[in-house]
Amino acid sequence: MIVYAYDKGEYITLEESLKRQPEGKRAIYVNLTNRCTCSCTFCLRSMKKMAEETTLWLKKEPTVAEVQALLDAAPWDYVGEVVFCGFGEPTERLEDLKNLLAYVKQTHSDVLTRLNTNGLSDLSYGRDTAPDFKGLLDTISISLNASNKERYLELTRSRFGIQSYDAMLQFAQRCKQYVPNVVLTVVDHVEDSEEIAKCRAICQERGLTLRVRVYEDS
Ligand code: SF4
Repeated sequence: MIVYAYDKGEYITLEESLKRQPEGKRAIYVNLTNRCTCSCTFCLRSMKKMAEETTLWLKKEPTVAEVQALLDAAPWDYVGEVVFCGFGEPTERLEDLKNLLAYVKQTHSDVLTRLNTNGLSDLSYGRDTAPDFKGLLDTISISLNASNKERYLELTRSRFGIQSYDAMLQFAQRCKQYVPNVVLTVVDHVEDSEEIAKCRAICQERGLTLRVRVYEDS
């Protein structure tokens, strides 16, 4: 699936989402790529089995026009937020991602936008990428994962090595200038309460919000 919804641990089609929840707003998700600069030990890509009709494994990455067509067909009266997420790192397609965020903002200015990211796009592109999101995102959710660079690398197996943690934190701080809500996340069952308390302190020091994600939460 390229554009999909989520319900109680399941990735579902938009039609199925409307059947299960005929009223009210919901988030819809856009799956642009399966590529990622990390290989996290807890990544659902390697753990979750999926039915053919609802798999997030892409046979081929969709073009911007293909995603626009799918977005055009979405039930917008029932959409409160569009989240770029999926089974991979959306910033691997940074220009396409920005074009699609702009498309959502132009066509549905009342709908919120969010990016779920590993926060390593500065390292991917060798520049400060936070300004790219100015005016395009309401929320950026960045995976903090750990309270120190060694543990972070152990968990994420980032292709950029030990510099990754500091680069991700610097990106998060820069995003505060351009994105109204900057949220850092840590997965509940991956880290213990002591580690989560340290993550909370790191966020507090930097004026960032921490969200403890339930494993499998979108
Ligand atoms: S950053 Fe996300 S998509 Fe990439 S390996 Fe980690 S959990 Fe998977």
